[in-house]
Amino acid sequence: MRIVVTGGAGFLGSHLCERLLDAGHDVICLDNFFTGRRENIIHLLDNRRFELLRHDVIEPVLLEVDQIYNLACPASPIHYQYNPVKTVKTNVMGTINMLGLAKRVRARILQASTSEVYGDPEIHPQTEDYWGHVNCIGIRSCYDEGKRLAETLMMDYHRQNGVDIRIARIFNTYGPRMLENDGRVVSNFIVQALKGQELTIYGKGEQTRSFCYVDDLIEGLIRLMNTDAVFEPVNLGNPGEFTIRELAEEVAKATNREVKIRYEPLPQDDPQQRKPDITRARNLLGWEPAIQLQEGLKKTVAYFEAHAARVAEPVRSEK
Ligand code: NAD
Ligand code: UDP
Repeated sequence: MRIVVTGGAGFLGSHLCERLLDAGHDVICLDNFFTGRRENIIHLLDNRRFELLRHDVIEPVLLEVDQIYNLACPASPIHYQYNPVKTVKTNVMGTINMLGLAKRVRARILQASTSEVYGDPEIHPQTEDYWGHVNCIGIRSCYDEGKRLAETLMMDYHRQNGVDIRIARIFNTYGPRMLENDGRVVSNFIVQALKGQELTIYGKGEQTRSFCYVDDLIEGLIRLMNTDAVFEPVNLGNPGEFTIRELAEEVAKATNREVKIRYEPLPQDDPQQRKPDITRARNLLGWEPAIQLQEGLKKTVAYFEAHAARVAEPVRSEK
């Protein structure tokens, strides 16, 4: 098949391009390089079945493809809040453009949605039929509401035009190729531990997240794309739930470092708890994560150690 991956030079996108090439497909990686890097895909550039296109999804594009993975959108709060209007445009106009393409060439399209559509959830763990608890005027809304509208567009193009859609609600995912100064908690903690700095816990560190290793997530995305007639959203994530304080301890173990903690203010609208119910993914895709936190952290630490020369200062999620 010929497959386009928008956001293909980013963290998840680059792993996905790699897996699709390995499976024998032709891959077009489309990216505007906002948070993506050539380094993430440099090893793919010699492959004759790989094509790189510098393009912004807020502009239409004409391509002959069989499948579209729409991943283009900054995922870290610091990056999506840097230019929130652009984040909304990427999610809304970008998704319309990709749906228009899917409709025109009759391609199947998968939207990378997010657990953020549940906001600060009032039910736990989160099932796909929960409608969410989202602040529509907060600093996270450009992303949360952008992604919610992207889901709406997917469903409406499906109902109105018969577009063959898939919606993956991705929960926190980590692994090699996260930006060192990305601002997300796993990369921040690993970089801080390796540099002998204090680990920055926002709030009391009692908020929880569930962390999925990238290889598991990519397997889930590919299975969802290639399973017939799954038009409803599907949660993809690792149901193991950790407080941020527990995560700090796990990072200390994985890096084999004594770490000190520095407590900083909790960002506005930071969800208190998050854990996916993955019953639907288990039943429909036969999927569940295989790599648990300590093992995944060790692989990620190895990556950051190998790239230590260019480890930049970790950043805060507020401007
Ligand atoms: P990332 O920031 O590493 O990758 C995003 C990619 O999209 C980058 O290469 C960036 O340059 C590109 N991009 C951004 N705006 C664009 C635009 N307007 N036009 C073209 N390209 C654009 O983030 P990631 O972690 O790889 O996330 C990929 C997708 O998965 C995103 O849609 C994100 O919302 C979703 N997601 C990720 C996670 C996670 O934990 N990693 C969780 C939930 C959802
Ligand atoms: N966090 C933290 N220290 C950091 C970065 C993040 O304590 O250096 C917290 C953040 O407040 C949130 C959790 O870790 O509660 C996950 O943050 P991240 O930005 O990785 O993802 P998201 O909030 O989008 O789930």
